[in-house]
Formats: sequence, C-alpha cells, structure tokens
Amino acid sequence: MQKFQPTRIERGDNSLTIQWKDLHQGELSYRLLREKCPCAHCDAVHLRKDPFHILPPDDFFENLRLVDIQRVGRYAVRLIWSDGHRTGIYTFEFLRELSEGVS
Ligand SMILES: [Zn+2]
Repeated sequence: MQKFQPTRIERGDNSLTIQWKDLHQGELSYRLLREKCPCAHCDAVHLRKDPFHILPPDDFFENLRLVDIQRVGRYAVRLIWSDGHRTGIYTFEFLRELSEGVS
C-alpha cells in the first residue's frame, strides 16, 4: 500500500493540479516538474556532472507543454513533454514531496 495516492490529476495550461487521497491538494508548475525531472539524464545535469550542459533559455519553458501523462504501475506516472522528453518517471511520493516543497 502506497503512503500517498492521488485521486485526481488534472492538466492545466501551465501546471498540474493533484488531489490526494488524504485531501491534500497541490499545484505543480510544468517548469518545476521539468526542472526536477528525475530521469538519469536530467539528474546528471542537476548534479552538474556535465560541465558543458547549457541551461535552457526561459522561452524553452514558456513553450513547453505537457503532452501526456501515463500511469506507471501503482506508484508513479510518466510525463510526456512537447519537446519529446519522456524518460522521467515521477513516483507519487516524489510528486507529493514537490507539492509540499520538500525537494
Ligand atoms: Zn529527464
């Protein structure tokens, strides 16, 4: 049994609104979600393992759209972005942490 279960995930223009089973409701901007993408590639960038990585310009985020959300088992969702990035799997626990500003 997962500690945190979303009961509803709603896609807005610029953010994702998540309603949780324990009645907590959180809104996560697409920019934040993408910046915190937990996939191996983005994680390497976060940790500055790649000194040649160039940060995307602001209009990258302005033009970024969330194309789809796919359920991954019972514990996570995969976010599909308009630039084709789709390797980020966000566990419910991670989404909840982001939502509470822990991460
Ligand atoms: Zn990523």
